[in-house]
Amino acid sequence: MNKPCVFFDRDGIVNESPGPGYVEKWDDFHLQPGFVAALQTTAAKGYSSVVITNQQGVAKGLYSEEELAAIHGNMRAQLRTHGVDVLDVFHCPHYAVDECECRKPKPGMIFQASKKHDLELSGSWMIGDSEKDVEAGQNAGCKTIRICPLDEKTKAEFHVEHIDEVAAILEKELVACV
Ligand SMILES: [Mg+2]
Repeated sequence: MNKPCVFFDRDGIVNESPGPGYVEKWDDFHLQPGFVAALQTTAAKGYSSVVITNQQGVAKGLYSEEELAAIHGNMRAQLRTHGVDVLDVFHCPHYAVDECECRKPKPGMIFQASKKHDLELSGSWMIGDSEKDVEAGQNAGCKTIRICPLDEKTKAEFHVEHIDEVAAILEKELVACV
């Protein structure tokens, strides 16, 4: 049977949001404990986890594909020190105006991940801090959690203010699978 997955946006979820800028180097990357807790719950429930991230900074020449891959390698090494890891990381390197199929809010990266790893999307979740993440998830048939100030409007099924609140939602809502 195909496994369901929890898809996580990167900036603002896995690591602290770099604000309007980009994580250009490893020193800019700050892992959030609330994400580690969410990932531990995801793994305990038997779900796969994949990071899905728009990285327009590649198109802008702020960092190369190789530098981005190195950041993700360090990220996964850091996760493993907490006893967890993600199955894979997918990124969109294109400009917003490129009209590619991968940039969120399009669901292209979720479909790529599903195809590569045989993931079952209807029982899957997408977690992000932007409405683009919510739309990408819903466009792929996933349930969604948005982390953002509570006065912002969202179509997400669950809306919380802080990443620290996500593990408890997953603990309650994910149907354990083995
Ligand atoms: Mg984000």
